[in-house]
Amino acid sequence: MKVGIAGGGISGLACAHYLRKAGHQAIVFDPSPGGLIGTTEVHGCLLETGPESWLASKPWAETLIREIGLGDEIIGSNDSLRKTYVLRHGNFETLPEGLQLVVPTKLIPVLKTRLFSWGMKFRMGAEVFRSPKALPDRSVSEFITDHFGREAVDYLAEPLLAGVYGGSPDFLSAPSVLPKFVEHEQRYGSVVVGALREKKAATGKPVFYTMRRGMGTFVGRLAEAAETLPYRVNAIDYNGVWELSAGGETHVFDSVVLACGANRAADLLKPVEPDAGDLLASIPHNSSSIWTLGYRREDVAHPLDAFGFLIPKPERQAIMACTWVATKWPGRVPDNIAVLRCFSSDLNTTQDAVRDDLRRLLGITAEPVFAQLNQWPEAMPQYTVGHTPRIAELEARSAEIPGLYLAGNAYHGVGIPDCVRSGKRAADAITRSLL
Ligand SMILES: Cc1cc2nc3c(=O)[nH]c(=O)nc-3n(C[C@H](O)[C@H](O)[C@H](O)COP(=O)(O)OP(=O)(O)OC[C@H]3O[C@@H](n4cnc5c(N)ncnc54)[C@H](O)[C@@H]3O)c2cc1C
Repeated sequence: MKVGIAGGGISGLACAHYLRKAGHQAIVFDPSPGGLIGTTEVHGCLLETGPESWLASKPWAETLIREIGLGDEIIGSNDSLRKTYVLRHGNFETLPEGLQLVVPTKLIPVLKTRLFSWGMKFRMGAEVFRSPKALPDRSVSEFITDHFGREAVDYLAEPLLAGVYGGSPDFLSAPSVLPKFVEHEQRYGSVVVGALREKKAATGKPVFYTMRRGMGTFVGRLAEAAETLPYRVNAIDYNGVWELSAGGETHVFDSVVLACGANRAADLLKPVEPDAGDLLASIPHNSSSIWTLGYRREDVAHPLDAFGFLIPKPERQAIMACTWVATKWPGRVPDNIAVLRCFSSDLNTTQDAVRDDLRRLLGITAEPVFAQLNQWPEAMPQYTVGHTPRIAELEARSAEIPGLYLAGNAYHGVGIPDCVRSGKRAADAITRSLL
């Protein structure tokens, strides 16, 4: 089977790996393979262009990395220093220990924190008395407000989810984004009771994994092993076989995998299957930019004694979240430098605006030693209310078109492990189609 893959981010590259493993020929088209993932080295610091890690509890990325011989390169986050600050009334308050995203599982840290008002603490306690119920799809904001009140949306759900989805909880779908908690609500009524009953014993594993020499080594190894062509796919057509127009030529394949982001896939698919194309186009995407600033360590008086901070919307100016790289990861930053990764959902956020925030929040007035800007327009798919049935319909329609497959972050999870899994699912489906 000869397969053409449009898009060589982690989803497309993972798909190519699993296709090759199953004995198929896969050609990946992408002018910049790796997609969002990449690593640079500046002043002796390893800097990530996009994602810096993945959730260790999801196995698919780790499995693939071990398969391609990079298992020894996997390292964990510095969990003994794990702490996150959240800005409240202009002060950094520590995110209480034992939170499963927004759900408390330890009493004392919640009672002691100054991040939540007493009203919210009371709501968290009273939540355990709820009765089970199955409700229709609704937004994360509605779901969290129902359980803990609006304050839990503003000071927990919104800043935590903004880092993952880059979107507003007012639009994100609770069953798509918080499936476990919705299940708990149906089974136990209370998400606190559900989280406590199903709490897993500590595995001793770090929360996050990354690659010792940067995430770029992961996609770099996959791209080296893949057959790649450095072209954008401009059009696709199906006439019993698939024809991909790229680099001024038409390339013919038995199957095609669209792994180029749902929004770009929509443009490619519309002329072939307008309904599936429209469904793809209906998935909104948000943008993200990262200013990574390096300072002389002596110019930063703050102890940087956490993984970083989150800024809830009511207190936000330019920065949405900031990672303190040397604290979170071993071996990335020399001792004499402090690296701050500052995230914004606005592509136009300027370095000056970011530095104003750092002055206000951390008292940093010095010039940075270096600054790196990575802008990712329309890169974060939004799992809005109705996402699950929308994707089911999209998959049903695409299944009717022989040899068409989708992979990527817009369907069943945005994290790197989910993307690897989506690439593998497409590869497995292609293999199954031959049986
Ligand atoms: C700023 C940011 C930080 C993130 N941090 C994390 C994190 O720490 N951990 C985590 O697990 N996840 C993180 N994510 C999410 C995760 O990185 C992405 O979901 C994932 O990398 C997407 O991979 P992909 O291959 O599906 O898409 P992409 O990486 O977007 O790759 C798509 C590829 O398609 C190519 N392409 C586009 N159009 C065409 C075309 N017409 N023809 C051919 N090729 C085309 C592009 O050049 C690109 O290389 C982050 C996302 C962002 C935006």
